Amino acid sequence: MGKRIVIALGGNALGNTLNEQKTAVRETAKAIADLIQDGHEVIVAHGNGPQVGMINLAMNADPNKPYIPLATCTAMSQGYIGFDLQNALSAELQDRGISKPVATVLTQVQVDLQDPAFQKPTKPIGSFMTEEQALELQKTGVNVMEDAGRGWRRCVASPKPMAIVEIDTVRALLSGGCVPIACGGGGIPVYASEDGRLLAADAVIDKDFASELLAETLNADALIILTAVEKVAINFGKPDQKWLDRLTPAEARQYEAEGHFAPGSMLPKVRAAVQFAESAPGRMALITLLEKAREGIAGTTGTSVQQ
Ligand code: ADP
Ligand code: MG
Repeated sequence: MGKRIVIALGGNALGNTLNEQKTAVRETAKAIADLIQDGHEVIVAHGNGPQVGMINLAMNADPNKPYIPLATCTAMSQGYIGFDLQNALSAELQDRGISKPVATVLTQVQVDLQDPAFQKPTKPIGSFMTEEQALELQKTGVNVMEDAGRGWRRCVASPKPMAIVEIDTVRALLSGGCVPIACGGGGIPVYASEDGRLLAADAVIDKDFASELLAETLNADALIILTAVEKVAINFGKPDQKWLDRLTPAEARQYEAEGHFAPGSMLPKVRAAVQFAESAPGRMALITLLEKAREGIAGTTGTSVQQ
């Protein structure tokens, strides 16, 4: 029977440059179309790490022009990533004789200004600088950090997503038989002002957590996080590395405490998967390779997280 599935696409589904993206989305479209062809109802979410860094850099290259906020950069990334995905997926569905419109929803995601993440920006973005350049920039009120021995970068807050503003739009598209692309780059971060208006927040939301919220809110059966590894491992990259077929929330917590999941890459995926699996009985999260999505949902590969 067909399932309702939220697919979270990682960096490898989109490539690092505009040209890479045009090529990558063709393969990505095949993986998504496989699930649609198998009778599943699919909602697509995606990351935007390299893209939002590139846009932020380009938009703010001229110091004499007004600063373009990060939320605007994320909105731009949703637009052009959505364009390529929408274009490629429509073509792939057409080739398979499947009549289904694909539509990108510019999605705002509400965050809480009281989120402790705003006190402690942790997410490095944009290009690398020398320490001197970084400290100069810091004097203008911009947060900077040293990034894993690779140099200095601007850093921003990464608050938890609280609510998806355009969720009813996504629902309407689903009930109209469309394939929605939503919550790109974790969503455009907004917060509610005192008069109830939504204002842009200077932050980026983790796409794994935003996809989880999307799956939970839409009452999805499965959340598939497609990335650059076929399975989650313990002792990752070490001689005693062990790939995991399944993971219970309890095991995931224990492995997390033992430091098996790298923060900023595998850790948010495992946490998002656990949160989804625990959110209601019968819900399943799967972490696997983009090109293994179909096999993964059939239960023959990937790491599944279930209660
Ligand atoms: P995405 O763009 O899909 O979000 P990330 O680079 O953020 O991808 O995260 C996926 C990466 O996490 C993998 O390619 C792998 O190098 C790394 N990783 C870190 N810890 C683990 C682990 N325990 N098991 C598997 N992969 C891991
Ligand atoms: Mg990631």
